[in-house]
Amino acid sequence: MSETDFPVPRISVVTAFPDVVRGYLSSSVLGRGMGHGLIDVSVVDLRDFATGSYRQIDDYCYGGGGMVLMAAPLEAAVESVAAKEGRYVIYPSPQGRPLCQELVEDLLGIAARKRLVFVCGHYEGVDERFVLRHVDMEISIGDFVITGGELPSLAMIDAIARLVPGVVGSFDSVKEDSFFSGMLDNPHYTRPEDWSGDKVPDTLLGGDHAAISRYRRREASERTVSRRPELLAKAGIMPYLECGVYVLELHHPVLDRNRRESTTSVTGMDLHDIARACRTYGVRKFIVVTPLASQRELIGEVASHWTTGYGAEFNPDRADAMKGIKTASSLSRALDWINEKERRPPFVIAITARERGGSLSWLTLKEMMLLAARPVVLVFGTGSGLREETLASADAVMSPISGGQGYNHLSVRSAVSITLDRFFGFR
Ligand code: SAM
Repeated sequence: MSETDFPVPRISVVTAFPDVVRGYLSSSVLGRGMGHGLIDVSVVDLRDFATGSYRQIDDYCYGGGGMVLMAAPLEAAVESVAAKEGRYVIYPSPQGRPLCQELVEDLLGIAARKRLVFVCGHYEGVDERFVLRHVDMEISIGDFVITGGELPSLAMIDAIARLVPGVVGSFDSVKEDSFFSGMLDNPHYTRPEDWSGDKVPDTLLGGDHAAISRYRRREASERTVSRRPELLAKAGIMPYLECGVYVLELHHPVLDRNRRESTTSVTGMDLHDIARACRTYGVRKFIVVTPLASQRELIGEVASHWTTGYGAEFNPDRADAMKGIKTASSLSRALDWINEKERRPPFVIAITARERGGSLSWLTLKEMMLLAARPVVLVFGTGSGLREETLASADAVMSPISGGQGYNHLSVRSAVSITLDRFFGFR
């Protein structure tokens, strides 16, 4: 979306300290964004809606305690901003939902449809009846308490504004910041090169852009794993991997229903669906392994129907996915080919539906593949699954996919999609 067709987020802040809010809004990047009409923020002075001859906005807490902001002035202030259907009221509160990047993105989405109204609390907070009647969401900026809702509101408005193209100079740098893809950012350095003995890493001083980008990805990965491993569950790690990811569908040797070694046939549905899933998540090649030359020829024919001539013209998206299909006559040949192409031995993860000692959770594997600096190969079986020998020869086996029902007989297509989404899904 370009700057011009990006919906302008509309925001108001209801506060008893309007100068605090105006001061930050006018002096920051936000001020520039507002000046260019990229974001619309208004400040509402709660005291303009004070009641009674004393122009009161707060009163003593029933049952004892400090002061509380009164419901009536807050209601009048919020209603002055927009009608109920046109507003979304947020009360920054230590008891609210914890703020995170996904929530900031949701707020940006809401602000395109309705006016976001931040209501800044003070003292003990605001009258609970106002919260129950008017607040759509309470949001906390962390498990600590500060004196007022102005800083939390400004933090949220700042985070929302940075996502509007044009507010921050380069949108690419926003995308590289921590949490955008779920990962932490890499460290940054500026001049001088040598600061009383502490030097900038050599890689950053040379002009080798590929090496710089490798260095940054590695630093970001190591930081995320060591400081915030829990972030990995929702991080889009594909751009951080040093080598490619490969999906292998094994047709031989696999088990049949009687747990005997057998060879299965290739199906058109697998070819299409797995190729599309692989393309969606950035897998480098979908390799179908079968020792039968006639089956490999058939796969070649199906793929080329969609990647050349009429098929490609008729459905270019399908062509894009089917281009990723490759065949191999055996697992070892496929692994040798990857080793040669990537110049590093692959890290092989076998996927099985059977419970087996020594298998690892997908989260542990996600961390391992991020730090391995090796091509990643996900091996899926067909028929009744992979043989014990294949599982034992893999670098790791993933714990079975399970919905907790004691039944997990998924098609290989489903298993591939679920696995790819766990490892490479972007939130
Ligand atoms: N009595 C309240 C409690 O313990 O939950 C704390 C009130 S606090 C002193 C005053 C106001 O600051 C709150 O009403 C809220 O608007 C804001 N505030 C304080 N800490 C916050 C946090 N961690 N996140 C969001 N808002 C916060």
